Amino acid sequence: MLKWLTLSGLGRSAGEMLVVDGSVGEGGGQTLRVSVALSAVLGQPLKIYNIRLHRSPPGLRPQHLTAVKAVATLASADVSGLSIGSSELVFQPHTLGGGQLEFDAGTAGSTTLMLQSLMPAMCFAREPTNAVLKGGTNNPMAPPFEYLKWVLMPVLELMGVSCKLELRRRGFYPRGQGSISATCQPIEHLKSLQMKEWSAVESITGLSYSCLLPNHIPERIAKSASRVLSQNQYDNVDIGVEALQAVDARCSVGPGCGLILLAKLSRGGILSADALGERGKPAERVGEEAAKALLAEVERKAPVDRHLGDQLILWSSLAEGTSEYAVTELTSHTLTSAQLCASLTGAEIKIDGRLGERGRVVVKGIGLRNPRLHP
Ligand code: ATP
Repeated sequence: MLKWLTLSGLGRSAGEMLVVDGSVGEGGGQTLRVSVALSAVLGQPLKIYNIRLHRSPPGLRPQHLTAVKAVATLASADVSGLSIGSSELVFQPHTLGGGQLEFDAGTAGSTTLMLQSLMPAMCFAREPTNAVLKGGTNNPMAPPFEYLKWVLMPVLELMGVSCKLELRRRGFYPRGQGSISATCQPIEHLKSLQMKEWSAVESITGLSYSCLLPNHIPERIAKSASRVLSQNQYDNVDIGVEALQAVDARCSVGPGCGLILLAKLSRGGILSADALGERGKPAERVGEEAAKALLAEVERKAPVDRHLGDQLILWSSLAEGTSEYAVTELTSHTLTSAQLCASLTGAEIKIDGRLGERGRVVVKGIGLRNPRLHP
């Protein structure tokens, strides 16, 4: 039985202006990024207030500011309220042209989160776009670069997206200075997505990476993850090890390490989990954390992981037809994004399940046609 999601007050369309209370629901940077992305793609002005109201410190942080600046440049938008700490923005997009963009958070702010805001606009632009984004590439509480490349992109490709992602240099907290590049081709429309069925885990792969650390660290991370997985009957595990040093062009300016694991399902779907190293945290714990988190995902028997669950809502809302997917966990990010995207696009979104549990997401998208390809 499907339940309609009801969370009021998040967003509404007042005439032509999209109006969003940024503090409702999850109330973090995601609400801002999704709102700005939709404003640019739909070509409708946006007013967003109470941005990150309950976060400390509230308002725009460098990562959010840089994301908005990047989308604003692509959309030739007029923007007011664009400064660190600002809690209100008015974003007035004009056209999505394309071309070359380069933005630097100036901190370790997540480049992958910036790209999440920019990518929909790049896909609905008139011309191909290349964006080079600088900051962190492997941050806590954000998708690692590899997640975008190996988990999000294959699913978006099923929906018709064509973007090439490249890691130019890793960036870790606190020094950042990493760099990623994304080149997206304009699309005419997005296709709907069907990822409803669970199927057996075909293989588990991963990448254990480090910069400016002894090689034994990523090796120990990989070994401890393999041990936990094999204790749980997953013996077919292949984790690559990448230990970069200063001579490598892709090496970060400060030390860091982490692990991303991927469970490929035999009939479609890739579940992922990751963990980052930090000073004083044994390498073995990094491996165990990621492995246990992956096992938790796999046990829930759905083809879409908890993070992808929220990240797909914007795309499904714009797609043609009805998308449906089963997700390992309904997070507050997912519920918030569902309410926000439904309000701003007019898509019909149904969520079956409860917060923190396995669930099902059904999105009747608006079938947006790229108006810039058909003037
Ligand atoms: P805040 O306002 O709390 O500082 P933020 O701007 O850092 O927020 P959130 O609003 O929390 O970001 O959104 C985080 C996004 O990153 C979500 O889309 C979530 O799915 C994604 N995410 C977080 N951790 C991971 C991870 N380990 N793997 C993949 N995606 C992740």
